[in-house]
Amino acid sequence: MRNVAAQRLGLLQRAWQSQCRLHSKLGRKSRLESMTHVRQSQILTYTPQSKQVRLFTNDSASAENGDNSDLGTYSEADHEHAVISAFDLFSIGIGPSSSHTVGPMRAGNIFVADLNEAGLLHKVHKIRIAIYGSLALTGEGHMTPSALILGLESADVETVDTSYVPTRFAQIKEEKKLYLGHGLAGGKGKEIDFDYERDFRWEWGRKLPLHSNGMRFTVFDEEGMMLATNDMFSVGGGFVVNGALSKPSNSLSASPPAEQGQPESKELQTENSGSGPADLAENMFYKEIRREDAAGDRRTGSEIKPLGSADESAALIEARSTESPSGSVLIDPITTETGPQKPRYPFRDGQSLLALCNKHNLTIAQLVYENEKSHGYTDEEIHEKIFRIWEVMDQSILEGVRAPLDTTLPGSLKLRRRAPGLYNRLTRGLYPSSQGLTTPNVSGQLPPTKPEDANSSSAAGSFQLEDKAKPTTMALSRKGLGGKRGPPRVHGSLYHPIMPSPRRRTALPAMDYLTVYAIAVNETNAAGGRIVTAPTNGAAGIIPSVLKYIIEFISDDPERDILTFLLTASAIGMLYKRGATISAAEGGCMAEVGVACSMAAGAFAACMGASPETIEQAAEIGIEHNLGLTCDPIGGLVLIPCVERNALGAIKAISSANLALSSDTGTQKVSLDDAIRAMRLTAQGMRSEFKETSLSGLATSVSMNIPVSVPDC
Ligand code: SF4
Repeated sequence: MRNVAAQRLGLLQRAWQSQCRLHSKLGRKSRLESMTHVRQSQILTYTPQSKQVRLFTNDSASAENGDNSDLGTYSEADHEHAVISAFDLFSIGIGPSSSHTVGPMRAGNIFVADLNEAGLLHKVHKIRIAIYGSLALTGEGHMTPSALILGLESADVETVDTSYVPTRFAQIKEEKKLYLGHGLAGGKGKEIDFDYERDFRWEWGRKLPLHSNGMRFTVFDEEGMMLATNDMFSVGGGFVVNGALSKPSNSLSASPPAEQGQPESKELQTENSGSGPADLAENMFYKEIRREDAAGDRRTGSEIKPLGSADESAALIEARSTESPSGSVLIDPITTETGPQKPRYPFRDGQSLLALCNKHNLTIAQLVYENEKSHGYTDEEIHEKIFRIWEVMDQSILEGVRAPLDTTLPGSLKLRRRAPGLYNRLTRGLYPSSQGLTTPNVSGQLPPTKPEDANSSSAAGSFQLEDKAKPTTMALSRKGLGGKRGPPRVHGSLYHPIMPSPRRRTALPAMDYLTVYAIAVNETNAAGGRIVTAPTNGAAGIIPSVLKYIIEFISDDPERDILTFLLTASAIGMLYKRGATISAAEGGCMAEVGVACSMAAGAFAACMGASPETIEQAAEIGIEHNLGLTCDPIGGLVLIPCVERNALGAIKAISSANLALSSDTGTQKVSLDDAIRAMRLTAQGMRSEFKETSLSGLATSVSMNIPVSVPDC
């Protein structure tokens, strides 16, 4: 019986995990490669409670609206648009990793919320958690276990006190008690015994097929019978792919599949053409914990059409049951049809975005704003959410520059924080000093002097005076520059026709501010602080840096510019998420820093009053010169090259925007869509060693004996 049960469970898992792969591959392939193709796809789900089969169709051939000729490749009937909520793209989370910290915490939340919706939470007596692949390899030092376990207690990744996470985690380990769903409304949670050493499994060297960042949750009742199991995947940027919660029939074994000696990798790689549990790709498009909170057309993926004929339903049920003959049933929590929450202005690529802007006389930011309203947000909610995002970005800069000098960041690299020293140096002589900082707001007052002023006055002036005073002695004292070091050694012979250059410091205020802002955010992230995934944690410094620069040094209306910047950047991010990827595991660093640079470039141009076409050009330049950028961080830590790379990404974003702003409209040869296509091709051709594996490049060229081998961007 036990074998039969195991077999059944294996079949169930093979069916739906193969579906994951198939769905993922097909979905991605169709999303990425068939932009102009007419498609029809059908996905079946079986809802046991209602005994209904839903047919998901996607038929772009049935366009009702003939007025699409100027909308690029967009068709009203095409549900494969690029639009997601700006608040999915920019989500507030904790460091150091969007995929290894934010995603797992969200996954824990989702699993418990699903258990609760399925009426199983109160029956749970025991939980078994396993993390696979990259998640396992990054280790406890990267906060994956604590984030995931706090997620099971329903800690909210956006609001949880970052210092509470390690404290509570230690308490759970010590007391061997876990309060599942502790944060659920109405006291629906349940406290259970939990032995971290026994119940939390590290599956080093094994990975689930859909993605390297796999998690498996299994819960048992008082008799030790399995109540439910689910695999989830943290796919980057804090997005989680939720496998359908599967609940075994009574005949199934109490043991989780990983314990039954199945040749897991082999089994999980089995292709399956059957239906299996569907309901997976939709999760790529939202970050809500509960499905019903997601925007309507992202909740179900495609249009739902209940089958009209009972015979047809029966045939589909039969077809499904022959393909997945397990004793398990799928709990499908979808209870509502797609409704009015479809975005008002759906676009699928740069061309259709521009066409919609021109057709409706909207800026890109205005168009995204209207889409958010059609997602159900009120004007007040949009403002509140946007300014909350900016507030967290700003705080992450502040936290970075105010950190104690000469401290090191967590992790085996023992990297020194640089933002505090750089900021001190940059703001010498300015009021207020960094010691007297107050929290900036949208009318940000830090620092009060514009960089161009700084060139001629205090900050830069002090550098010049100092340099002028002792340029030829080559023994410039470094006191006051934040260093306790002695006079710099002159390298080179003084008795040579070419004298060594005197040591000087440059003051390039715009670049210096962008650099320090970006580095500050990434250091806050590396220390496990609160940041905004923009669009990922590893690339989280670029967008805040460029926006901060605008607010402090350019803007005459910070409120307008914050809205314009973030909404424009999010539209550009959506194009990458649909047309290529924002995951380093798929596209290397060009998918993270490259995409963030492109988003910031377009958004900067928007704040400079550029037309949608110029914004598109700025975004294109921003990615064009990041194509092929590899992800090979040393020791798998989001430190080297990541922290500096964000600074360079911010500078490159403004250079890209300035190039576009000074170009004549219509002269560009490469469109953003071309560049996104090129990015996709580049990602496909890039060897996996350069895609978030730390198996080549910098990670192996620098000899450091660091045991972690997979990055956690
Ligand atoms: S190198 Fe990799 S880990 Fe670092 S920022 Fe780029 S994508 Fe993230």
